[in-house]
This record gives sequence, structure tokens and C-alpha cells, in this order.
Amino acid sequence: MSLHRRHVLSLAAGAVVAPMVWAGGARAQAGKLSVVATTGMIADAARVVGGDLIEVRGLMGPGIDPHSYRQTRSDIAALTRADLVLWHGLYLEAQMEEFLLNLAGRQPVVAVGEAVPEAARIGHEEYEGRFDPHVWMVPDLWLPVVDRVARALSDLRPEDSAFFEANAQAYKDEITALGSYAEGVLASVPEPARVLVTAHDAFGYFGRAYGYEVEGIQGISTESEAGLARIRDLVDLLVARDIRAVFVESTVSDRNVRALIEGAAAQGHEVRVGGELFSDAMGLPGSYEGTYLGMIDHNMTTIARALGGEAPARGRLGRLAAGS
Ligand SMILES: [Zn+2]
Repeated sequence: MSLHRRHVLSLAAGAVVAPMVWAGGARAQAGKLSVVATTGMIADAARVVGGDLIEVRGLMGPGIDPHSYRQTRSDIAALTRADLVLWHGLYLEAQMEEFLLNLAGRQPVVAVGEAVPEAARIGHEEYEGRFDPHVWMVPDLWLPVVDRVARALSDLRPEDSAFFEANAQAYKDEITALGSYAEGVLASVPEPARVLVTAHDAFGYFGRAYGYEVEGIQGISTESEAGLARIRDLVDLLVARDIRAVFVESTVSDRNVRALIEGAAAQGHEVRVGGELFSDAMGLPGSYEGTYLGMIDHNMTTIARALGGEAPARGRLGRLAAGS
């Protein structure tokens, strides 16, 4: 299915966008800006802010792991043709970084994740000067990224900057409201249960913002393998702290999470999967979970409910898929 989708997308991206000419108008209006974004979250921000003035192609669909994703031939064609390339940066797209930095010497390429001020970033444990890229997990931290997207579009089309800014402001208001919802439902989880065990370390910002202890089986990147010792330590933690739920992620194999559950069971401690979280990619295109707002609503709601807190089953707006 994803192959089919990619094919359709590449056809769409290959279509020539003819400049629009207003009938009888004095000036020829330029065509839609063509924007290519790496992650779904960035593509979503671009679509909302740019509205019908831009055409957005997102490279990484549902279930795609940005840490290991490498540009395909059709991606390269789209990237080099784009009026604007938006990527996350902060070493998220590790395999694409060299290509994108090179491209930045020739055309507008903006690492929008780096709009998060350095003081608000979490440093990488092992590499000095490197940061945890997973800033989208906390709505407030995503606000400067949305602003950066708007500024990048305005730089290319100053005449439309009021439109971009108005869209960005409305979007940021929604994101802020989602942040308040998250704070409320996450605070309803009993304090001892505020432990989030996931497949990889994508929830560091989440933990810091909401006062949760977070443990990823793999590190900040999925590039390093989790060792048996790490699994054993986490099993001990589950048993010692009486943690009943762990979470799988949409972009990471559930193999390690299953190993945790089996390890705990061997010690007589029952742990279940609390749900699937969208860590580094959004849900299916066209669904609520396939938007940034829906993805985060899903995560916050799922975590709160699985760990014994109170949250509406269908999320902040009653829009989450049933049983999600
Ligand atoms: Zn990640």
C-alpha cells in the first residue's frame, strides 16, 4: 500500500504547476509554491500555514522511522525541484543530513526543529553539542517550529505573509489548547504510576514537561541496538515499581517491548501493552491521527488512560478512532 501511495505522490509532484494568470489582470500570479518536508509533523504544519498557496509533499509516511530513513531517487528529484525544503534537523534525519546540508548551499532549505531555543533543548547524553530531536512531543515546544515554517514561507512570498501569519496563529492557538488538555489528563495519573516505558527514547521532552519518568529500551536514535542487559534492567524496574503497562511505537518494531513483557511474566509480574504511540511519525493520511493535533491527542489520551488517569476515550475533541 505504501508503495502505491508513493507512486501516486511522485506523479503528483511531477506535474508541472502552470503559473496562474488572472483573466484581465495586470500581473501574472506565480504558481503554488512547491514545498517538500521530511517528517509528517512538519508537512502538516506547512499544509496548515501555507493553505492553498502551497503544494506540500511529505517524504516520511506513517510508520516510517526518520532516524534510519534515506532519501529515495524520487525524493531526490522532488527535493531538488522544490521551492522550499523543510526538515527537522537536530540530527533526527541522520541518514539524510549530508544530502540536505549540501542542498542548502543551492536552494532554500530550513531545519525548522532548530527553531526551538537551545536553552529549551535536552542535550544528548553521549555527544556534546548534540540534542534530543523529539521536540514535537510537547505542544508548547512545537510553537516556535510553526513560526519558523511561517517565516520560511513569508521569506519566499512576502506579499502573502499576512495570510501565512494568520494561519500560523490559528494553528498555534489549537496547539496551545491541546497542551492544556495534555497537562490536565496527564496530571490525573496517580504519581507513582507516572512512568512511561517505550521502545526508544522519544519521550524525553514529554517526561520533563509533565513530570514523568521515561525509559526507552533503545536510545534517542533507533540506530543503536538495545542490549540484553538493558532489557533485564527494565524488567527489574517494571517488577520493582509495579508498572503494569508499557507502550509500543508506530515507527519501531515491538520486538523489544514483547521481550520486556515476557521477562516480567517470568518473574510473575503481569504487564500489558498500554497502546501504540505515534512517536516519530503520524497516523494514516486523511485520519485525525494523521495530523499533528490528532497524533498528540492520541498519545496524551492513550498514556493517561493506560496508566490509570482520566481522559475521554475519544480524546480532547471526541475525534480519536474508537479503541485507539
Ligand atoms: Zn525517535
